[in-house]
Amino acid sequence: MAEEPQSDCLFCKIVAGEVPADVVHETGTTLAFRDINPQAPTHVLVIPKAHHPDAAALAAAAPELAADVLRAAGEVAAQERIAPPGGASVGYRIVFNTGAGAGQTVWHAHAHLLGGRGLNWPPG
Ligand code: IMP
Repeated sequence: MAEEPQSDCLFCKIVAGEVPADVVHETGTTLAFRDINPQAPTHVLVIPKAHHPDAAALAAAAPELAADVLRAAGEVAAQERIAPPGGASVGYRIVFNTGAGAGQTVWHAHAHLLGGRGLNWPPG
């Protein structure tokens, strides 16, 4: 079940149009916009429009919506021309930071879509 928008949530405000964002993709249930502090040539955040605090909560409460987020991320990757096929250097990473210890700072589930440069493994 979708949660109500949270008045103190930055990404709910972006969904509502109360905070501007560089939107690159939108579906009925998801929104994708460029990260304000990009860590790669392509760094897009893909979010469910409904508020869920993190990826695990999203997947538990609304698995179809979690799938919508992953599908949208793949569509953005194709749009950004970082999706295979396209050679050995083409690819992207989808990251859900979950919990403060993993670097989560915004408590509205979001996928980071990163690409356009070489991506090391393991990540930092
Ligand atoms: P987290 O650290 O995994 O929670 O990711 C939150 C991301 O949101 C960070 O990469 C921030 O740079 C990004 N961010 C914060 N405020 C904004 C904004 O207003 N627009 C776009 N991205 C933002």
